[in-house]
Amino acid sequence: MAKTDCLLIHVPQVRGFSKKDFKLFINYIAIGVFSMCNELAKNKFKPQIIHLGVEKSFDADFDIADYVKKNKIKMVGLSLHWHYQAYDTLNVARKIKEINPDTFIFLGGIMSSAFADDIIKKYSYIDAVIKGEGEKSIVELAQKIHSQDKNLSSVSNLRWRKNGKIVKNKKIWFANEEELNSYSFDALKYLKNYERYLKFPFIYNYNAEKPDEINYRKKSSFVCCLGRGCPGNCSWCGGGYEAMKKITGRNCVTLRNPKIAAKEFINFKKKYNLDEYYFCFDPFPKNQQYLIELFEILGKEMPNKIDIMFECFGLPTKEFIDSFKKNLGKDSQIIISPEFASEELRKEHRAFWFSNRELFDCLEYLIKKEVKTLLYFSVLPFESDEDKKATKELINKIMIDKRSEFVEAINQQINDIEPYCPLALNAEKYGITLRLKTLEDYINNSKGHRDLL
Ligand code: SF4
Repeated sequence: MAKTDCLLIHVPQVRGFSKKDFKLFINYIAIGVFSMCNELAKNKFKPQIIHLGVEKSFDADFDIADYVKKNKIKMVGLSLHWHYQAYDTLNVARKIKEINPDTFIFLGGIMSSAFADDIIKKYSYIDAVIKGEGEKSIVELAQKIHSQDKNLSSVSNLRWRKNGKIVKNKKIWFANEEELNSYSFDALKYLKNYERYLKFPFIYNYNAEKPDEINYRKKSSFVCCLGRGCPGNCSWCGGGYEAMKKITGRNCVTLRNPKIAAKEFINFKKKYNLDEYYFCFDPFPKNQQYLIELFEILGKEMPNKIDIMFECFGLPTKEFIDSFKKNLGKDSQIIISPEFASEELRKEHRAFWFSNRELFDCLEYLIKKEVKTLLYFSVLPFESDEDKKATKELINKIMIDKRSEFVEAINQQINDIEPYCPLALNAEKYGITLRLKTLEDYINNSKGHRDLL
């Protein structure tokens, strides 16, 4: 590989207190890292992506700061997307800066965008934060850094420091349809040890006595981009319309052209012999036509049908279910999130409301069509004991009444509220006390170890 001039790093969250025995969480690389990497390559830069967890699984002593030094990398970006990555990502950034003081270090991703000003004010080892979508910004930034131009004020979406003071660049940008359609999310060739990444476990357990025993996932999978934005505002979600508008400036939904997306998925599957895709984008649940168009192309072009895990934002329509069944692999799964048994709670807290009657009718149809279905229920901090009991009873009712090999249900406790979600922005209105408010709260909450990275 050509000498790297911009390194993008994914840092998982580490839990555990010894180098001999630890767990890594948040092992998915945010999908935007791949499109940004391709944009750099398109503009003649030489990017590389490193997943620190994957590297640790080869060598628990792998030292990323040392790697940057040995390779004389001038520019390092760390993806701080999920709040659980906060402590470890900042810690890794600090260590890289300590032994590479001349390397330009920047952050990107939703979490760092949400707290961009605070990060620049408080953490001198971070030189800049790309606040929002990054494909345009990263190229503009790389051009500045590599031409040694210290005036970064023309870089879109950038927060940076000048003479000790924070500079908030005026140019705000997010991808329009044409731009989104021009991006490629297939950048695996830039990811070090990507073969291992495709099957890397959701939670990686490291044990020094059995370093080669990796709890791989059974199937290789990749998360795909179908578009950006959501018109909904579920109360606990930091990725809804209001949150995105505040954090990134995005004020609309942008869809990728299904033909372009399908072509990418088909090539990707051929190149990497992928077992399944994971899609989580369904911003218009009542009109899923563009998704149906995508499934029809995939069904036609891929005789060996691919499995897809699809997270619905509302309830899937009958047409969607028919097309899903006809065109995709037999182990494909539709994920529906009723969240609560109480229809009132669902109405108050969840976008794209549906009744329990509609849920039951939809399940009937899914079972009749033999489509695997996973139901997600959540226990959120504002729920009363009766609400929780009702949800448990509804799950039992579904599992007993349906007695189907096709339906599974998960009931998950959610304790940590995401930054900028409606609950965080209107805690008083919802009658809750926030445990996590500031950047430091999130950093402390995500600290699960003693500096293992
Ligand atoms: S549907 Fe709700 S949970 Fe899903 S992205 Fe939109 S606001 Fe978030």
